[in-house]
Amino acid sequence: MRLVLLGAPGAGKGTAAKWLTEHEGVVQVSTGDILRSAVQAGTKLGRAAKSYMDRGELVPDELILGIMEQRLQSEECRRGFLLDGFPRTLAQARALKATLARLGSALDLAVDLEVPRELILDRLTTRRTCSNPACQAIYNVKRSPPRVEGRCDRCGSALIQRPDETEEAIDKRLAVYAEKTAPLIDYYRNEGLLLEVDATSNDTVVNAIRRRLGRT
Ligand code: AMP
Repeated sequence: MRLVLLGAPGAGKGTAAKWLTEHEGVVQVSTGDILRSAVQAGTKLGRAAKSYMDRGELVPDELILGIMEQRLQSEECRRGFLLDGFPRTLAQARALKATLARLGSALDLAVDLEVPRELILDRLTTRRTCSNPACQAIYNVKRSPPRVEGRCDRCGSALIQRPDETEEAIDKRLAVYAEKTAPLIDYYRNEGLLLEVDATSNDTVVNAIRRRLGRT
């Protein structure tokens, strides 16, 4: 399974990807997670990416393409992968196609997770993340709150609101999505790879993907 997950921030790409990797035995590659780890570790990549991320803007294509080129060639991606948060621009989508072609491979599917804007805003502004870089457990103050307010159930560290999950940054991220990433929906439709799914519930997403790939 070689799959791209498209969808606005908060559409549930990460959750769908986690389920699919557990049940399909392929790796999830999240450029957002890779960048956040680089920021935490203070690497050159992290220092270059941080200000873009905090403002809710896209990190320049060159930085992302360098990471992904390497990752796609790695042993762990040979058996298949789920790309969560990549590609985000047409240039990235074209580069992905070219890299896979060089490796003698190609995508099976690009899934667009469709969720109404109000639901996205509600999901993201109520999300809290464990501040411990080794844990990073995710909670929702309304739907899956921690047992003790503001503390992680797993490791006891403080829960934080990510700088890019404030209302201002979310507005920016949604605008960037509409401008830069939404055009990929047409791109993948033209490539004959697009699957559009109502992602209001996660079960619908997983079931639609499995049906399309002939898994059920
Ligand atoms: P995410 O967790 O996927 O929403 O990513 C968080 C942030 O990382 C985004 O708002 C961007 O600043 C940056 N980012 C992640 N993936 C990409 C990408 N493929 N291209 C450019 N920037 C990215």
